[in-house]
This record gives sequence, structure tokens and C-alpha cells, in this order.
Amino acid sequence: MRSFTFQRASDAAEAVSEAVQAPLSAELAQTEVPVQFLAGGTTLLDLMKLDVMRPERLIDINGLSARHGEILANSSSLRLGGLARMSDVARHPVVRRDYPVIAQSLQMAASPQLRNMATLSGNVLQRTRCPYFRDVTWGACNKRSPGSGCAAMDGINRRQAVLGVSDHCIATYPGDFAQALIALDATVEILGSGGALTLPFSELHREPGTTPHIETRLAPGALITAFTVPAGPWTRRSLYLKVRDRESYEFALASAAVALDVQNGTVKTVRIALGGVATRPWRAHEAEDLLLGHPIDRARAYEAARVAFATAQPREGNRFKVELGRRTLVRALMQTAAMET
Ligand code: SF4
Repeated sequence: MRSFTFQRASDAAEAVSEAVQAPLSAELAQTEVPVQFLAGGTTLLDLMKLDVMRPERLIDINGLSARHGEILANSSSLRLGGLARMSDVARHPVVRRDYPVIAQSLQMAASPQLRNMATLSGNVLQRTRCPYFRDVTWGACNKRSPGSGCAAMDGINRRQAVLGVSDHCIATYPGDFAQALIALDATVEILGSGGALTLPFSELHREPGTTPHIETRLAPGALITAFTVPAGPWTRRSLYLKVRDRESYEFALASAAVALDVQNGTVKTVRIALGGVATRPWRAHEAEDLLLGHPIDRARAYEAARVAFATAQPREGNRFKVELGRRTLVRALMQTAAMET
């Protein structure tokens, strides 16, 4: 076991200040953030046991005031505290009624025990499930060890991404909730050394490019404090469809978050995000453009799905994901169009 220091913070500004001031050790400075916030711990502790993440300091933020876990809804928006637990949000009556895509994306993730522990801020930052990333006996993983190569390119790549990939990494972004957030044009509130900042959620995650070890635009020591989702007619008519190898406690092979506003049979607003197939939470703008202003039927939905995967770059083991992803999106669109709101 590697030793690390542990401390508790009772205030968000204090937690950030402690994290920002932490000295970098020479060993970790190049590839890892030496200080990690501990919330639910459902990803972090796993990866520490596997020796994939090796923080020198943990700052426990579970003692922050209760407002960091609040769920606040009014007629114009939904605000979710970063420390809200997945299960609390998934069963919240207003979220279930007015933002079903959010409730479903959380409810279909992980297991009841994990959902009771895991927080929203930790959920959006979860790391890939690429087997080579999680197994330190593999030398070649650019995400874990920059410049070492990528064992998945010609290895086991059935679960890897087909969208947003690079020559350096094809790891799939594993989350579900982030697809709902990106589809609904959510914003994310961040507290860093320079103060509070609000970003479009779509700007939080990065594609791997040549630096797959840098997964988000969060500065070291910055803390996600809340998410805000604007309300609209489309948020009630929304849905998350997840296709996976088994019915529960499994990551998506392909998923779709869809929100629709249909008036007189014509699409007035449509929001589409794809999961299980891309290196980051993935918004399918081109597919949306194809649907806007038209009635939805199966032929047009399939054409939109074809456009959504036009830039796919599959490998040997994950070629099936292109057609699976298209069919998942078609099914999600048809089901959302048929919803009664
Ligand atoms: Fe590592 Fe990414 Fe390659 Fe997986 S796909 S081995 S995470 S570099």
C-alpha cells in the first residue's frame, strides 16, 4: 500500500485552497494530480487499490455544508449540488417528472449500493473502464503513462470508442449522467483558485488527441460544485436508452439521451447525446439538424442516426458499435416521439 495523507474539509473554499497549495512530488508532477477530493469514493478508491491512481493527499469533502448536495427546481431550471447522491436525484419526484432523461441516466447506472454513495460531481469525472488502463501490468497505455503507447488499438477493443478517437487513445467515456447533461445544455459550476466559474457542461471534457491523460478542463485543485439544467418543453419529453451486455450493473455498449419538443407533428427542438461509443460525452448536432422542422418517422430517424455516426472510426473488435449505436438512437427517437407529456 502506498501511503497518503488524509484530511477533512468543512468548507469548499478551504478544500480548494488546501488542494491548490499542495506541493507536487517529482514523481507525480508530470502525469497525475497529487491531491484528490474524496466524495463517494466509488471510483477513486477502486483505482487506488489497483495502483492506477496514486494521490499523495486526499481531502474528504463529505463534511461540506448540506447545500452542496441540494436539489433545487423552479419553473426555469433544475440545480443539482455536486455532492448530491445519484440515488437521491434519480428518485426525486420533480426530476422524474420534468427531467426523466436525468433520472433514468442515474437509475440505470451502477448498483443501488454505489448509487447511494456516489455523488454527481464524482460521477461526471469517472475514469474509463479500458482494461489496459485499469491493469498496471500492461505497459502501453498513454492515458495512464503518457508516451507509452496504446495496447487497446490492436488488442481487446470491443468496448472502446468509435467517435472522438485519436491515434493515442480510443477509450470510451463510461458515464451515463453526463450524456443527459450535455443533451440538455447544462452548465457546470466550478470553484478554483481564481474563484467561482460557470462553464457550459459541453466544455468540461476533452477528446484524447495527443494528451489522453488530460481528460477535462478542470485546473488542478478545482472542485465541481453544482450543475444547472435549463427547463424547456423538451426536458419533460426526454428519455435515456441504454444498451448493455446485461440488464443491470453494467456500462453502456451504446446509449442515447434524447429530448424533443414536437408541435403539430413537427420537431421544434431536439437534443441528442450518445454514450458508450465516444471518448467523451458526445452531442450529435448534425443529427439534430437533420430532424429539426420535420415530422419524425423511422426513415428520418435512421438517416439522423447515420449522420450521427458518419465520422466513426471503428477497430476490429468494436465495428458492431456503429450499427448498434445507430439502432439505439433510432429506438430512442421513436420512443421519445411517442411519449405523452
Ligand atoms: Fe490506455 Fe486509452 Fe489505449 Fe486504453 S485506449 S490502453 S486507456 S491509451
